[in-house]
Amino acid sequence: MNSSHDVLILGGGAIGLATALSLLEAGRGVRILEAATVGGATSHGNCGTVTPSHAPPLAAPGVPLRALRWMFTPDAPLYLKPRIDPALWQWLARFTARCNSGDWMDSARARAALLNDSRSRLVDWVGRYGLDCEFGETGLDYVFRDRRNFEHYAAECAPLNAMGIATEVVDGADYLRQEPSLKDGIVGAVRFPDDAHLRPDRYVAELARAVRERGGMIEEGCRVESIEPGDDGVRVRVADGSERHGRDAVVAMAAWTPELIRPLGLRLPIQPGKGYSITYSKLALAPRRPIVLKDRSVCVTAWGSGFRLGSTMEFSGHDTTLNEVRLAALERAAREYLHQPPDASMIQEKWYGWRPMTWDDLPALGRSPKHRHLWLAAGHGMLGISMSSASGQLMADLMTGRAPAIDPAPYRVERFQ
Ligand SMILES: Cc1cc2nc3c(=O)[nH]c(=O)nc-3n(C[C@H](O)[C@H](O)[C@H](O)COP(=O)(O)OP(=O)(O)OC[C@H]3O[C@@H](n4cnc5c(N)ncnc54)[C@H](O)[C@@H]3O)c2cc1C
Repeated sequence: MNSSHDVLILGGGAIGLATALSLLEAGRGVRILEAATVGGATSHGNCGTVTPSHAPPLAAPGVPLRALRWMFTPDAPLYLKPRIDPALWQWLARFTARCNSGDWMDSARARAALLNDSRSRLVDWVGRYGLDCEFGETGLDYVFRDRRNFEHYAAECAPLNAMGIATEVVDGADYLRQEPSLKDGIVGAVRFPDDAHLRPDRYVAELARAVRERGGMIEEGCRVESIEPGDDGVRVRVADGSERHGRDAVVAMAAWTPELIRPLGLRLPIQPGKGYSITYSKLALAPRRPIVLKDRSVCVTAWGSGFRLGSTMEFSGHDTTLNEVRLAALERAAREYLHQPPDASMIQEKWYGWRPMTWDDLPALGRSPKHRHLWLAAGHGMLGISMSSASGQLMADLMTGRAPAIDPAPYRVERFQ
């Protein structure tokens, strides 16, 4: 096998695949090195919503206090497993320092730029590459039973509108007339008419197809063990002891990235924000568009091929267990809100994934400050599917010297060094 390549992409999730596709379109050659199966990690069982609406970052005024209360509630939507882990506590200190309205607005603007660009680019990609992934442009609703929570999110509509994100506030009674799948008790909803959704496992499979059809190579079962950047490119050693050489390399390994780049003196503060989902066969009476049960922080997505409940955010390190308490919280929320919740006989998959969370809720996209040929594309947190096409395009533009569609400054790797 020829071990010398143009661009090596380390990690074959939504971000690695989108970067590969954009680079191929820009005339570069790519080889993806994926430890397991392409698209099989965090990009597989997520909720599949494409959400400019989620521009506001997790670090918001009031969150530290709420998180402290939730620390003692094992089925809370945001849970921190108390433990001694200096990297986690440093991350939390930086996160907490950003829970103010100025930093909130800075992150929200930068997230909105990436999300809006990605949203329109995705429509183009679905058409141009024929991505068969149950893409739907139905919008998404936040629904509320708690009036104070509803009023809080209704008040957030004005800053979102200023960032180019459309919103509609719907009264509870009206909403129930429109959405027969929900039980009584909804006090109101916030609709985001421009949000969309897709089936994420199909999306990544289709991206992989488009990459291969354009001459991109994908090596599965190929775990990268170390990277050695030099003046003429990047040498990569993989688990079987062999090496690959790339003129450039992009590290797109989500929550696995920090460990691999630490020996190079590079810092990327990513904590795994563990989330869960349960996938069912198709539900007879399902919501018409994705909804977020905001009081419970549970996302409900229905496709023609199935139905998914997902969410919860747990900071428990690189923990690989399926926590039944947290899975049960998803099912409980479905029973509380839906007239016809799914039952156990319909379950197809119980899943967890590690959202790659940075403390400013922005990904790192760009060149390593220390190595000319090494690039990073990681840290997309809760929004890697939503941000994938814009991230891929931005990486390709930066790597080929083209003028990028959006300002790359907020995502620079330098902010973490
Ligand atoms: C419950 C849940 C719900 C979510 N819902 C949404 C949603 O509705 N919308 C949205 O936009 N986002 C959502 N997300 C977030 C989204 O899933 C992630 O942001 C996104 O999948 C990250 O993509 P990625 O390519 O960076 O990571 P991944 O898909 O994890 O890809 C990284 C790849 O690197 C590979 N890798 C790791 N180590 C190595 C190594 N040493 N060598 C080679 N390869 C390696 C892994 O195997 C993996 O395939 C959700 C996440 C969760 C957990």
